[in-house]
Amino acid sequence: MSKIIVVGGGAAGMMAAAKAAEDGNEVVLYEKNEKLGKKVYITGKGRCNVTNACDTTEFFQSVLSNEKFLYSSIYGFDSQAVMDFFERNGCPLKIERGERVFPVSDHAVDIIKCFERVLERYHVVVKKNTEVTQLLIDENGVVTGVEIKHKERIIADAVIMACGGKSYPSTGSDGKTFALLEKAGHHVNELRPGLVPLEIAEEQCKQMQGLSLKNVTLTLYCGKKEIYQGFGEMLFTHFGISGPLGLSAASYANAKCYKKEWLVRIDLKPALSEEQLDKRLLRDFEADKNKQFKNALSGLLPGKMIQVMPSICKIPEDKAVHDITREERKQLVKALKQMEFHATGTRDFNEAIITIGGINVKEINPSTMESKLVKNLYFAGEMIDVDALTGGFNLQIAWSSGYLAGESAGSEGRI
Ligand SMILES: Cc1cc2nc3c(=O)[nH]c(=O)nc-3n(C[C@H](O)[C@H](O)[C@H](O)COP(=O)(O)OP(=O)(O)OC[C@H]3O[C@@H](n4cnc5c(N)ncnc54)[C@H](O)[C@@H]3O)c2cc1C
Repeated sequence: MSKIIVVGGGAAGMMAAAKAAEDGNEVVLYEKNEKLGKKVYITGKGRCNVTNACDTTEFFQSVLSNEKFLYSSIYGFDSQAVMDFFERNGCPLKIERGERVFPVSDHAVDIIKCFERVLERYHVVVKKNTEVTQLLIDENGVVTGVEIKHKERIIADAVIMACGGKSYPSTGSDGKTFALLEKAGHHVNELRPGLVPLEIAEEQCKQMQGLSLKNVTLTLYCGKKEIYQGFGEMLFTHFGISGPLGLSAASYANAKCYKKEWLVRIDLKPALSEEQLDKRLLRDFEADKNKQFKNALSGLLPGKMIQVMPSICKIPEDKAVHDITREERKQLVKALKQMEFHATGTRDFNEAIITIGGINVKEINPSTMESKLVKNLYFAGEMIDVDALTGGFNLQIAWSSGYLAGESAGSEGRI
C-alpha cells in the first residue's frame, strides 16, 4: 500500500483518487474550492455530457492535440468503461444524439454525488478549501510530498497533479499551479483558449446578433490553408460567431494556427450547388420581378440576414428585381455559398470551455502518466497538452488519464 496525494478535485482528480483508493492505497485528495467538481457542475449546461459512446477509433478524430499520447489511457479505460463505472456506482446514464452520454436525471450534480459515494467507500480523505502551494522534490529528483497552506508539509509516496487548465477560472482551474511544475523543470506549452467564440472584424455580425443558423457549413482558413470545416449550427453575436461551429473553428484556429489571420467562409445553402441556387434565384426573381431587391429575399433568408445581404453582395437594397444583372445575381450566389468574414481572434479564457496547451506530453510517460523528469509525480486531465471537440470527449480524457494515473501511482511496480 502506498500513500498517494491527489492535487485537484475536478473530473480527473476524483477519478484518479477513486482508482488509487480502490486498489487499496491510502489516498488524500486536496481541492482548493469549498466543494469537489465545481467545473463538472456546469458541464453540458448543467446536464454533464459525461462521455461519447462512439467507437474508440472514431473518438480520436475529435481530439485536436496530441491524440497519440492518449492511446494507452483511452484504450485502457474507454467510454464503455466510463459508462460502466457510473452505472455500477449508482448513476444511470442515457445516450442522446451524436452518441453523447448524460445522466438519466439530466443533473451534473449526480456525477459529483456518485464520486462522493465512491471516495467515501474507499476511505479517501478529502481536504477541501486546501490549496497545494509547493511540490516537495528531493535531491534525487523524486517527489516526496506537497506543501499546503501555512507551509504544512505532507509526505507521500506519489503525487498526482490534476489541477485543470485555465478556462472558466472562477471554477478553480486558473492556471496558477503550472508554476509549481515549471519550477520542477517541466515545460508548459503556451496556454490558449479552446472551444470559445470567434471575434469577427465585420460589423455585419453585430447587425445579425442573436441570429442562429442551422444546417450550414462553416470553413476556416489560415492564410490559404483550410484548417477546419464543419456542418451544423452557428450563432451571430455582438462580437462575432459562436454556437457549435464557431467554438470548434476557434479551437482549430488556436490549436493549429495561433495568432495568424483567419478567414471564415459560410455556406448558407450547402444542399444546393451554385448552378442549382442560381436557377432557384431566377425562379424567385421572376415571381418577384417588380419588387425591390430587399423585399425579394424572404423565401431565401431569415429577416436579420436580409437587412445585411445588400451590403454583403453589393446590390442596392432598393434596386428593382427586374433590373438585377446576371453579374449581380452571381454576386448574390457567391454571398450565399461563400459568405466571408475575417476573424481577428477569439474570446478569452473566461468564456473558453477548454484550455489548449499545458504540460508538454514529451515529458510524460503515456503508459503510466508519470513525469519523465520527476519520479513518482503523475499528471491527469486538462493540465496536460491535450484537448478535444465538444461531445463528451474532454471529460473522457479527464476520466481516462485520471484512471491511468491513479492505477499507476498506486501500483507496486512504481517503487
Ligand atoms: C462551461 C463548460 C462546459 C463544459 N461541458 C463539458 C461537457 O459537457 N462534456 C465534456 O466532455 N467536457 C465539458 N467541459 C470540459 C470539462 O469540464 C473539462 O475538460 C474537465 O473538467 C477537465 O477536468 P480536470 O479535472 O482536468 O480539470 P478541472 O475540472 O478544471 O479540475 C481541476 C481542479 O483542480 C483544483 N485545483 C487547481 N489548482 C489546485 C491546487 N494548487 N490545489 C488544490 N486544488 C487545485 C481546481 O479548483 C479544480 O477543482 C466543459 C467545460 C466548461 C467550462
